[in-house]
Amino acid sequence: MPPAKDPLPPLAGLPRAHLDWRPDDGGDDAPHSSEFDDVYFSRHDGRAETEHVFLEANRLPERFRAWWEARPFVIGETGFGTGLNMLCAWACFDAHAPDSARLHLVSTELYPLGRQDLVRALTAWPDLADRAAALLAQWPEPVRGVHRLWLDDRVILDLHFGDTTERLERLDGAVDAWFLDGFAPSKNPEMWQPELFAAMAARSRPGATFATFTCAGVVKRGLKAAGFAWRKVPGFGRKREMLAGEIATPPADQRRRSTPWFTPPAARPARRVAVIGAGLAGCTVAAALARRGVAVTLIDREGPGAGASGNALGALYVKLAAETNRQSRSYLAGLLYTRRWLEALDPDHELWSPCGVLQLATAEREARRQTRFLANHPLPASVVRQVDAAEASRLAGLALPHGGLDYPLAGWVRPAALCDHLAASDGVSAYRDEVQELAPTPDGWRLTLAGEHGDTAFEADQVVIAAATASNGFAQTTALPLQPVRGQISRLALPDGTPAPRRVVCAGGYAMPPRDGALTFGASFTPNDTDATTREADHVANLEELERTLPGYLAALVEAGADVSPGALDGRAAVRAASPDKSPYAGPVPDADAWRRDYAALAKDATRVPDLPGRHHAGLWISAAHGSRGLASAPLTAELLASRICDEPLPLEAPLVDHLHPGRRLIRDLMRGG
Ligand code: SAM
Repeated sequence: MPPAKDPLPPLAGLPRAHLDWRPDDGGDDAPHSSEFDDVYFSRHDGRAETEHVFLEANRLPERFRAWWEARPFVIGETGFGTGLNMLCAWACFDAHAPDSARLHLVSTELYPLGRQDLVRALTAWPDLADRAAALLAQWPEPVRGVHRLWLDDRVILDLHFGDTTERLERLDGAVDAWFLDGFAPSKNPEMWQPELFAAMAARSRPGATFATFTCAGVVKRGLKAAGFAWRKVPGFGRKREMLAGEIATPPADQRRRSTPWFTPPAARPARRVAVIGAGLAGCTVAAALARRGVAVTLIDREGPGAGASGNALGALYVKLAAETNRQSRSYLAGLLYTRRWLEALDPDHELWSPCGVLQLATAEREARRQTRFLANHPLPASVVRQVDAAEASRLAGLALPHGGLDYPLAGWVRPAALCDHLAASDGVSAYRDEVQELAPTPDGWRLTLAGEHGDTAFEADQVVIAAATASNGFAQTTALPLQPVRGQISRLALPDGTPAPRRVVCAGGYAMPPRDGALTFGASFTPNDTDATTREADHVANLEELERTLPGYLAALVEAGADVSPGALDGRAAVRAASPDKSPYAGPVPDADAWRRDYAALAKDATRVPDLPGRHHAGLWISAAHGSRGLASAPLTAELLASRICDEPLPLEAPLVDHLHPGRRLIRDLMRGG
């Protein structure tokens, strides 16, 4: 049977906005949409209009002043455009909110502006220049999906690229104040549909407010039908009236009615969180939580980057399926996030290199698969493009007999150094010890330790398990299947002046650009092998794979004086953890016994879904099974967990959040009568 079609919209690039620039009332240059024949804002009074229509009518200055919650204040916007509204909201937040407060901005956009247009539009506001620079530095590729940007240490912007209604229906998060923007209903009737207002209502916090520049009947009717109360208030400038209002009791989220097991657990305090495991998964979660002001204790029996994340060099790349599936969607989102995150974390590229990755098609079958992939995924060339052998050779700086896919945004990372860097983040206390047992307490969790650090017990509000293959070694996690996969990389000393790849080049294995005078390549892949000692046989296999990827390269190395015999290589072996479907586990830990009881009926008839939300071990989370792709998955899944723990909107659409849910296998087995 062919796989069921993924009902999500295509994983594709989006068209750029087409702008023309017209003089406004004051004679200044103002952005105008050629698609919609409407203005983004008036350069003459756009700023004052934003403040009147969106900030004042949502009472933001006074609400920001009173924002003492641990969770961030959330603004949702329909139509990001030039970002003027959001930058003004950020400035207003900085002017009024207490230091402890955080702001989370969520905005949709179907036609993202090109960078040059964005620069031109935002130069109109010199006092917003620093904020505009933070936005421009991270302005995402025009790819459908969620793009998370940290604008500063207390302000997050999630750009949901795609159609507003479709995006809000998939938003996992709830909004305190809406900026109901978008071109005028007469110019953009497709957007102002009943489904839009219903999606806004379903993603509102109780008491959420809204404000919009328009008074059109379709908007008033739509808002009312969705449960919003509206009133007319004085409009800005020549507009006599506009609408503002609120929704007292938003409708319950119906989205997980057919999959109630994925209903997220209720938020609970997270002042102090323990993270078990200091590989990439644990270190990224620890840093993401600490950035939100959580006190994090990071515990690992061997210290940061000891396991599979301890390699000196690792490839940041993804292999995407020819037919779109949720795993590919999650990995591409992960790659784009990791890239943005690394650029902000380490702009000097000490810990990574954006050198690009070539995925060669060394056989006809793979070439056909790549062609099918591109036909199914019309992504921007800046994300992935097909190159012939000549172009691949030029990019790699080596003669290559095959073309393939080029991922210009990918590259290499120093995972061990990255783990050390993250473990040293402000707010993270890292220490060596072994967690032997977890027990719930009335307020959180009690961790029993081996005592290598002194203490034999430790208490935390919440716990994240990120311990690779050891992750299912706790009483609460035994039901989560994890497979050990041994992997060994090889390193070969390069004599001075030897040619070497400038990009990461991969086919079956991969070869990296040289570092510290050595070529790193690999990695072997041996499921169910837990031995972490290096083996000559794996070096032999890695050399064979290198010859298949870069035919003739080994001979060239020998000619240059390199010793390529397996005995001359050094390397490192480690054991990674994989899930049965090869996607990571990132989410709350299901109470497996409760699931087996609550959902037992599914074994007889998988369509009879009990109306019971999934029960979880409250305050217990997992990030594991990142396999050999942790560089692409861990930073984004860390944000996913930190956002869930801190009661914020999530950086992935709900179907992908569910795809990563640690209980997915359990429910599948229950449905199959297991
Ligand atoms: N808020 C913006 C600002 O601060 O610059 C101005 C928004 S502009 C008036 C309207 C925006 O809505 C445009 O960027 C347009 O591309 C976007 N838009 C229109 N229809 C949309 C839809 N169905 N889904 C998402 N965005 C849409």
